[in-house]
Amino acid sequence: MTELANCANCGRLFVKTVSPFCPECLKEQDRQFELVYHYITRQENRTATVPQVHEATGVKTDLIYQWVREGRLVPALFPNLGYPCRSCGTIIKEGVLCDNCRRRLEKEINQENAEQEKKDGRKRGKTYHIK
Ligand SMILES: [Zn+2]
Ligand SMILES: [Zn+2]
Repeated sequence: MTELANCANCGRLFVKTVSPFCPECLKEQDRQFELVYHYITRQENRTATVPQVHEATGVKTDLIYQWVREGRLVPALFPNLGYPCRSCGTIIKEGVLCDNCRRRLEKEINQENAEQEKKDGRKRGKTYHIK
């Protein structure tokens, strides 16, 4: 049985592949990628930021962010490209969170773990008693 999915961009039904986008939108995205790539690989545009690329090419910033995140546009080659931190929106170049959010999250997780351990410890104690 063929599985159908709604395209994440235009909502059209299409036969599901690994991509969340229908073939039409993928073709369109490839065309837009070409545009962006042509623009950013020009010597004078190497240091453009995503909003600047968007201004120059008309390609949606979300799409450009996606390409940077996927490594299609390599931040090492284009020093000012990046994508927003999933938590606060600061532009980052790797991972899903900026340094600040990562540190904050690590602290929260550590705290939770410590509390969980305390709870687990108590629970374990009880279980041993029952046995
Ligand atoms: Zn589509
Ligand atoms: Zn952040």
